[in-house]
Amino acid sequence: MYHVVGGGIAGLAAAYSLQQRGHEVAILEGSGDLGGLAASYETAGDPIEKFYHHLSKSEETIVALAEELGVGDRIEWRLGKNAYYVDGEAHPMDTPWEILAYPHMSVYDIFRLGMLTMEIDVRGGVPSFDTYDDLSEFEDVPIKQFLLEHTTRGVYENFFEPLLDAKFGDRKEDVSAAWLLGRIKFRGERDLLRGEILGYPDGGFDALLDPLVDAVGRDTVRTNTLVTDLGIEDGAVTTITTEADGETTTQETDGVVVATMPNVLEELAGYRCEIDFQGAVCAVVTMDRPLTDTYWLNVADEAPFGALIEHTNFVPPERYGGEHLLYVASYVQSDEAWLATADDDAIEEQWLDAIDGMFPAFDRDHVERFRLAKAPRAAPIYERGYLDMVVPYDLEDDVADGLYYAGMASEAQYPERSLDGGIVAGFECAKRIDRKAD
Ligand SMILES: Cc1cc2nc3c(=O)[nH]c(=O)nc-3n(C[C@H](O)[C@H](O)[C@H](O)COP(=O)(O)OP(=O)(O)OC[C@H]3O[C@@H](n4cnc5c(N)ncnc54)[C@H](O)[C@@H]3O)c2cc1C
Repeated sequence: MYHVVGGGIAGLAAAYSLQQRGHEVAILEGSGDLGGLAASYETAGDPIEKFYHHLSKSEETIVALAEELGVGDRIEWRLGKNAYYVDGEAHPMDTPWEILAYPHMSVYDIFRLGMLTMEIDVRGGVPSFDTYDDLSEFEDVPIKQFLLEHTTRGVYENFFEPLLDAKFGDRKEDVSAAWLLGRIKFRGERDLLRGEILGYPDGGFDALLDPLVDAVGRDTVRTNTLVTDLGIEDGAVTTITTEADGETTTQETDGVVVATMPNVLEELAGYRCEIDFQGAVCAVVTMDRPLTDTYWLNVADEAPFGALIEHTNFVPPERYGGEHLLYVASYVQSDEAWLATADDDAIEEQWLDAIDGMFPAFDRDHVERFRLAKAPRAAPIYERGYLDMVVPYDLEDDVADGLYYAGMASEAQYPERSLDGGIVAGFECAKRIDRKAD
């Protein structure tokens, strides 16, 4: 019997693929719920993820899995309208003319930004179409240096810097240009005249997670079962220890896939991952009316959050019994930061105050509910040299035979962590286990 630590998407995918390959498997999940970071709240209609989620067109494994599970037709592709909030005003940024009308960059800045997003290097006046093909060439290049060389100071200061502040805070200088270029490739499809097309399942991501759990088998999953230790003998994993209902149990195992954040891998098996993670604090605000007409509003302002993501401007409020749902989100780079330690009421007060200041038509009475989720490890800091730090799928050479890793520090979660990446990582581990078992 193989064991999977963690019942998030990566653990579920690993177990599913192991079963498809004829192996017996158990999933051990420490919390009471499955789905990990993609778990949901209830609404008056469909469930809504605690942390905002959508799919990009470049993500194919998750779509293929949905089809395999018979729910491929649930994934809907919709326009996700973007805007940029600067100096008290939201500027739509979807169509070419909206971007041209953005007052905080010159036409030349916009031209250089456009060329970069189309991956055309126009330095020296002669366009080159292959400069950005090999990302490894940019792995050690600081993002600011890259943007100043490949675009303009205006593009860096008035477009990317506020986004980097929101995404990485005081760690922004550490991020590599390869990450940015990878993100540009990852974003996938734009409708040139309308904007970005994003995917979201009818019924939320539960519409995918539930059939996946059904396919794996409810009996395969043990929730409220924390894995606390792995036994390693003669260079191989031999036992797994769990705690459930105050009882500690140790059992034999043929192999273990750790599908959690890498700190758990360190605790269980002593493997030290060098990647730094940042936390996320994310509220779902239920309102009786819309706040904006945008899905994704980047906030380049002194506001205490980085983005306002109005989910019901992407998926209609009718799906949620008429509720209007707004995510308010911020990353935190330190466990000691105010946001990481403050209680929910204090954060609610601060965030709603800030929204009040930004939108004159907003009134606290519009808010019906404020639910807050915190994840101490929500996303890696994609530092320079990142790919040298990713945790291998097969840890035989690093720790012990029979130990595998499918969590967020794996290669599939670069250049952006995603549900698709989690599925790929789970599948990669199952493939390697199967190959060895032959
Ligand atoms: C703010 C935010 C926004 C995001 N937006 C998107 C998006 O738009 N699109 C997208 O595709 N992805 C998005 N993601 C990323 C996506 O949620 C993750 O990549 C994915 O859910 C990771 O899955 P996982 O299974 O690797 O880890 P997790 O979901 O973290 O699951 C790990 C599980 O392991 C369990 N566990 C931990 N320790 C133990 C233990 N010792 N014993 C047993 N169980 C244990 C945990 O309880 C958890 O359930 C977002 C994430 C965040 C935080």
